[in-house]
Amino acid sequence: MSANKSAPLIEVRDLRKWFPIHAGIFSRRVGEVKAVDGVSFSVGRKETLSIVGESGCGKTTAGRALLRLIEPTSGSALYRRTPDSEPVDLFQLSPSEMRAQRDDLQIIFQDPYGSLNPRITVGNAIAEPLAVRGLAEGSELQDRVEELLRRVGLRPEVANRYPHEFSGGQRQRVGIARALALKPKLIVCDEAVSALDVSIQAQVINLLKDLQDEFNLSYIFIAHDLSVVRYISDRVAVMYLGRLVETGETRQIFDDPQHPYTKALLSAIPSPDPTKRSELIPLTGDVPSPINPPAGCHFHTRCSLVEDRCKETYPESVELGGGHSASCHLLS
Ligand code: SF4
Repeated sequence: MSANKSAPLIEVRDLRKWFPIHAGIFSRRVGEVKAVDGVSFSVGRKETLSIVGESGCGKTTAGRALLRLIEPTSGSALYRRTPDSEPVDLFQLSPSEMRAQRDDLQIIFQDPYGSLNPRITVGNAIAEPLAVRGLAEGSELQDRVEELLRRVGLRPEVANRYPHEFSGGQRQRVGIARALALKPKLIVCDEAVSALDVSIQAQVINLLKDLQDEFNLSYIFIAHDLSVVRYISDRVAVMYLGRLVETGETRQIFDDPQHPYTKALLSAIPSPDPTKRSELIPLTGDVPSPINPPAGCHFHTRCSLVEDRCKETYPESVELGGGHSASCHLLS
């Protein structure tokens, strides 16, 4: 495959992550949870793609499978370190080959407390990836840690403190500093601000945007809070029951949504301007189980516009122009 200067940083094609279900005394395989079922998207350099949807839609699984923190069932993820690089398919790499790519591909979790060892100072936590790879030692390592702390808005003196001595927002800054240590190209932000107070959320999001400009970072921002998503994203992918139902630029999704599910999600965002409040489109019932998703369009059990054909055939993705696409029979 030839190098392509306009090629995205990463191109995910037909990603599937099915979890087997075992039952009985012989633990026979009796089915699968199709948590992610044929998802395709790409992320450009210095671009933020948000993946949104209700709890249980598969967005977190998609992010983790992409980084192979859990092994994908099938699909491909072509990664180009530079625009001129030949792509490598992350899903085809051996564990040692994947380790070599992992420095470029980092993740920030919702609960940084869970990902920080309570018995290790935050300075050592940030230093660890640098030290393990032999990228710095002694005073140089200390300088790098202090610089990273400064860069995420923390005083270098806090390096000797333990995670429990920090607030949630400060711990998330430590998580960001740790993710930044190896100069990544892509960071998956997995509900990274969801657990923070609104004012702290804004600070951390502004920090992420500043760091993106400074380090040319790309983000996959996994979230359910659409107000936050609107602010941080270049493009948005809306996920429902393991599949993407609508993808587009942020303004396309927010100003001209086409899929009934996207419209329902957006109608629930409170607007401070009473003249701009849209009519609430209720989402009735819960997301169906991915073990036994509804036939046809998976959304048909909750869609107010459902037709007979929706119950039989899954709708093809329809190109709407300008990179905007959606999967709904009413659009074809
Ligand atoms: Fe609703 Fe049918 Fe469109 Fe699915 S395909 S979103 S059920 S109208």
